Amino acid sequence: MTGAERRAALEGIAAEVRACTACRLHEGRTRAVPGEGHPSTEVVFVGEGPGVNEDREGRPFVGRAGDLLVRLLGSIGWQREDVFITNVVKCRPPENRDPEPDEVAACAPFLRRQLEVLDPSLIVTLGRHSMGRFMPGTTISRAHGTVLPADPETGAGAALVVAMYHPAAALRSSAVEQASYTDFAVVPAILDDARARRAEREAAVVPGSAAAGPPVSPPPPVTDQPTPEPPALDQLTLFR
Ligand code: URA
Repeated sequence: MTGAERRAALEGIAAEVRACTACRLHEGRTRAVPGEGHPSTEVVFVGEGPGVNEDREGRPFVGRAGDLLVRLLGSIGWQREDVFITNVVKCRPPENRDPEPDEVAACAPFLRRQLEVLDPSLIVTLGRHSMGRFMPGTTISRAHGTVLPADPETGAGAALVVAMYHPAAALRSSAVEQASYTDFAVVPAILDDARARRAEREAAVVPGSAAAGPPVSPPPPVTDQPTPEPPALDQLTLFR
């Protein structure tokens, strides 16, 4: 899929999210929060669900937890625009309560379809509800910083998953905040592992497909001419 096709597919899913009435959470929402980010990224962050600020703006992680997420990304030289950020549930649970299992189940097809389109190499789960979708049967205190291959049922069959504490938990505890920085510090190395694993699997199908692309996409040219369509990259290779 080209970047333009990915962008269009993600926008189609987002439009469905905004119109969704599949569970009770739609009744209290101001705006649904489908997720946002680079359509050709290698890395997807999955949080729990929108809070009050996200509900107001229709964008994920824009409150204090989002500010901390941006600082955590900055600690490894990444920016939020380089990745895709979404949530397990796309509408705000009332009073920021935990999402109910039937609400998570109702929203699951959206997350699965987003992951099918993005086809990431790495998923970073934020908090225990997100971890529970990808690493069932463990606890966040045991699993944070650990890595597993994603179940293909999640829609991200080529990805590794790494579990992280939720930034909101890090805002409440300096020990969790410290652990979050420690866990984030190894994310670039985990992405390298994820790339290598993916390249091996793809090379088994298409010989030579593991060749590295450019380190990062070049910045758009500054011109008053209409910006030409970027070349149809199969997937960006970020963060090298
Ligand atoms: N917490 C989440 O889990 N997701 C958001 O988008 C914001 C806060």
